Amino acid sequence: MSENQVIVLQSGYAHEDEIDPNAMRANCSCTLIRCRDGNNIIVDTLTAWDGERLKSLIAEQGLQPDDINVVVCTHGHSDHIGCNYLFQQARLHIVGSTASKHDLYSEYAGALDTNGEVLLEKTLGHTLSCVSVLIHNSQFDGTTVGVCGDLFERCQDIDDAQIWKAAGSEDEKQQAEQRYRIAQLCQYIVPGHGTIFKLDNEMRTKLKKNI
Ligand SMILES: [Zn+2]
Repeated sequence: MSENQVIVLQSGYAHEDEIDPNAMRANCSCTLIRCRDGNNIIVDTLTAWDGERLKSLIAEQGLQPDDINVVVCTHGHSDHIGCNYLFQQARLHIVGSTASKHDLYSEYAGALDTNGEVLLEKTLGHTLSCVSVLIHNSQFDGTTVGVCGDLFERCQDIDDAQIWKAAGSEDEKQQAEQRYRIAQLCQYIVPGHGTIFKLDNEMRTKLKKNI
């Protein structure tokens, strides 16, 4: 492979429940990164009830759970970590910036691949330990993709900041800063609860104004 492949296995969503207006229906975006060095990374693993579905989504890519080398959860909320248990052959499970294998824990920062093109970045705001994964040299004409968890809720939250604030932010000021910082580094964003979108300069200007 000459470029790193970013494959959104399932786009996230979040909306009011149709029956109970006080309840939400939500699940995260789940993304597979097939690095050109052969590493397979999964970012955010849906809810604990999605195991069979996630296995079949991975199988559609010609892989099995044991083929996943690294699990990254952008943060520790239940809809982003639910199926980590499927990937017991992975060399690391990273939740936020904390990496673990069995009972061994350490902090993690930097590259996830051997080419230094797939990077773990701290992007706090939604929670104080949120991370994003930046994929340089992607299949989208070699541009950079950010798999950002709930730093971005969905594309529409650039026009309407209430969307990401209402989704919960432990530090709104830092989140606004990180949103602009990441938008300068990336051409595409996979948001936590929406479909992948392309950034343009008008969007970056709006993000800057929101700081
Ligand atoms: Zn979420």
